[in-house]
Amino acid sequence: MAVSVIAAPSQIDASTSRRQRLLGWVRGDEVGPMLIVVGSLHGNEPSGVGGIEQLLTGLDGDTEAIRGDLVAIAGNLLALEQGCRYQVRDLNRCWTDERITNMRQRAQREGLVAEDREEVELLEMIDEAIAAARGPIFMLDLHSTSSGGSPFGIISDTLKSRDFACHLPVPMVLGLEEELQGTMLSYFGDRGLITLGFESGQHDDPISVDRAEAAVWICLDSAGLLTTGRGPIYQRSQQRLAESARGLPRFLELRHRHEVGEGDGFRMEPDFVNFQRVHTGQLLARDRGGEIRSPVNGRILMPLYQAQGDDGFFIVREFSSFWLRLSRVLRRARFDRIVHWMPGVQRHPREPHTYRVNRHVARWFALEIFHLLGFRRHGVDGDKLKVSRRPFD
Ligand SMILES: [Zn+2]
Repeated sequence: MAVSVIAAPSQIDASTSRRQRLLGWVRGDEVGPMLIVVGSLHGNEPSGVGGIEQLLTGLDGDTEAIRGDLVAIAGNLLALEQGCRYQVRDLNRCWTDERITNMRQRAQREGLVAEDREEVELLEMIDEAIAAARGPIFMLDLHSTSSGGSPFGIISDTLKSRDFACHLPVPMVLGLEEELQGTMLSYFGDRGLITLGFESGQHDDPISVDRAEAAVWICLDSAGLLTTGRGPIYQRSQQRLAESARGLPRFLELRHRHEVGEGDGFRMEPDFVNFQRVHTGQLLARDRGGEIRSPVNGRILMPLYQAQGDDGFFIVREFSSFWLRLSRVLRRARFDRIVHWMPGVQRHPREPHTYRVNRHVARWFALEIFHLLGFRRHGVDGDKLKVSRRPFD
């Protein structure tokens, strides 16, 4: 079967030294799923685009490798050119309905600059891809971290996302999407795409490029795009990631986030790496307010060793895959339909699939139970916790 390459691997535009946004679109003759891969949504994370370019070069000329569509897109082009995370605003914190509607209107009237323009261009390209899809649509978002350490995946807890992620032999972190507002993956996850974030290692470490490439090969397979004949590179990709994550737990959940405010003077203590164990009371960082010590036992994630960014560090903790299996059973049985039978739990009067939990009544493990059933925390409303069911679970 033939594969037509709609866009060839990206050419760098000599006049601006800027990449094209569409790095490549490989459309198999055979109908199948679509994988949209976005790299370098943060401009100081070149391994995303680098890994995609390596993969497209590797695929080049093999007309039997893909069924469906692989669409590869570069994220923040201007910041990538300048080697900074972003120009004006973080391009991975501004994907909300309100902002997007507003920007689309402004784009028509007065034109846009910096990240607003990047976001509208990305939206248009992704919308175009989605309209051309011939099967289920998967989205992989490639990032890297300022600290070193093992690569890992970030999933929103839907059963389909878990299945998509399960062939990547790296730790999977749950719970980050509830903490981070306006991420691209949350936006497209709410529109029915099956999403996965991948963090490939330290920003400028050459191995991060190889790991990003390996992650795309594995995701091509788990999304059902790879046909046959790519066994050796798939095996090498598995090996590469498994080696870099050796000895680490498979599933971890977020326990704590340290947010950095404007002018905090936040400084991490040196030499922390992803998944390093930390204990309650351990000195992790300093800011204008003094020492910052770990409030819990766990493992540190994404300690901030760069100037830009609002997240000082996260602490995650491993949990047994038993809970994932149990929640699969509960969700298949649609236990979510009877949660309002629980004491202290009411349907939200206006918002569909949303409940209010009276924390004085449903005190014990309320949020944990809702997590098992596929809900996410949606904020606090007085003494009530607001939770809503993820669409498309
Ligand atoms: Zn990033």
